[in-house]
Amino acid sequence: MPHAIAALFGLVIGSFLNVCIYRLPRDLSIVWPASRCTTCGRELSWYENIPVFSYAALRGRCRGCGQRISAMYPVIELLTAAVFAATYAAFGLSWLLPVRLLFGSAMIVLLVIDLQHQILPNEITLPGIAIGLAVSLVEPPGWRDAIVGALLGGGLLWLVAWGYERWRGVEGLGFGDVKMLAMIGAFLGWKSMLLTLVVASVLGSLTAGVLLVARRADWQSKLPLGTFLAIAAIPVSLYGETVVEWYASFYR
Ligand SMILES: [Zn+2]
Repeated sequence: MPHAIAALFGLVIGSFLNVCIYRLPRDLSIVWPASRCTTCGRELSWYENIPVFSYAALRGRCRGCGQRISAMYPVIELLTAAVFAATYAAFGLSWLLPVRLLFGSAMIVLLVIDLQHQILPNEITLPGIAIGLAVSLVEPPGWRDAIVGALLGGGLLWLVAWGYERWRGVEGLGFGDVKMLAMIGAFLGWKSMLLTLVVASVLGSLTAGVLLVARRADWQSKLPLGTFLAIAAIPVSLYGETVVEWYASFYR
């Protein structure tokens, strides 16, 4: 039963994350005004704002102008519900639970914004680094791991970005990615940060391979690294410790 409550809470938060995903890259306020149809601007009433159910009841169309509503909205709400239930399953009722729920929510927002706009807003990554470091004073991974994670994560990608620009003369990696990996290091510590980077790189390479073979991309195409970092960071934030310990056990 508590898992169902976590999932329902996730649906509601997912609905708010949709607002952030739409408004942050457009520099709009996330608290005002109330939700509107993005085509005709009509304000939505409360029964058109119920996560997933309204989309299903309206059959994915605005009641005012009849325009299609993006299927992304219910997908994000369901994804958030799944992440919330999984986070509850991993941590139970503990102080780490709200911390990792906040982290997972931020990752979902960054995942979609980077995919749609190729940016990672400072409004999320910079407070993210600060909150991750502050929380680590009293919660895992502990402040030493968190500081090393933030510095190493940011430093690694900064070096890659700097080196690539010197080598090719064009920007291959944005500083948004640098700040995002620093945030992941601050929340999860340096070991889980490295695991996230490895998993994201493998996922990104596989995706690039598939896109190249399917001729949906060429060697000039850019993949949103932030999207892959987020996809990797969510499971790592739940099970990373276990994987890292298992890996370390080979070297004892
Ligand atoms: Zn409309």
